[in-house]
Amino acid sequence: MKKKGSLELIEEPIPSEIFFGRGVAKLGEGVLSFSRKLGLPEDGGTCPGATTAPGGCLAPAEVTRLFDGKVFWVKRVCYPVRGHTAIWQKKGLYNGNIGPDVESPVKLRNALDKAMIKVKKYPGSAVLLRHGVEGDFDSVKYIRSWVQVLRWRRRTVFWAYSRSWVIPALRGALEELRALPNVQVFASMDMALWNAGRLPPGWFRLPSGEVKPVPGAWRVAMMGPVPWEVHNRATQCPETRLVGDPRKVPTCESCTYCFAKETRDSKSWLWFPLHWVILITVGTTLFL
Ligand code: SF4
Repeated sequence: MKKKGSLELIEEPIPSEIFFGRGVAKLGEGVLSFSRKLGLPEDGGTCPGATTAPGGCLAPAEVTRLFDGKVFWVKRVCYPVRGHTAIWQKKGLYNGNIGPDVESPVKLRNALDKAMIKVKKYPGSAVLLRHGVEGDFDSVKYIRSWVQVLRWRRRTVFWAYSRSWVIPALRGALEELRALPNVQVFASMDMALWNAGRLPPGWFRLPSGEVKPVPGAWRVAMMGPVPWEVHNRATQCPETRLVGDPRKVPTCESCTYCFAKETRDSKSWLWFPLHWVILITVGTTLFL
């Protein structure tokens, strides 16, 4: 069985070329993924809305020492930061998914067509595509590039969880993307934003503290703990539930909640609990 959360390279990518991955354990065999360099733009990343305050996606990991300091219980919001795909980041494999290449709709579409053949039989066939397993939308040009590609490839079902809604200059282009019938974009939230009083587009707070949507409000994906004010709205991603039999854990492909037409107007806050990992060390130093 493939490692939980693992992704598979479709082919050994050449750094500086646009490349897609194929989701395995979480997404499902038939799902393409498109990732980018994670991190703040000033660090060379593509996540202008990333948060570094406590509870934020790039906040330092919470580490608890257990058993004589040899075992560590590590929790953090953005799982790829220290995950196996960090190696991909280090190898520069995402260098092709930034800059002018992906801001060209023609180049992006050609790369998508090539990747589609690996999961389906011919370019233009129906395919599921998850954007931003890591990385995010960082420019209007880049977002509009996807808008154009997804107009050309209407049978591609595209979904994303984006923190870029916090950047006013990107909001208009994100609304264009979100309005496409084959696209669903969730507003990614975390406790750092909640504690700073930020709410996703189309959501407002009642004097009681409860949050409500106006028509057209964004779907929301909450990473980490859920504040009590939205507890009644929270729907936990079934893939993150601990179940006895790993074969019963759904994949995105079988679950479909995030991209199905029927759930498009759902006003539940999709909840992804903190990612955690247990590390056992033989030395005394843990590099996080
Ligand atoms: S809710 Fe379903 S489709 Fe969405 S991330 Fe979880 S498993 Fe995937």
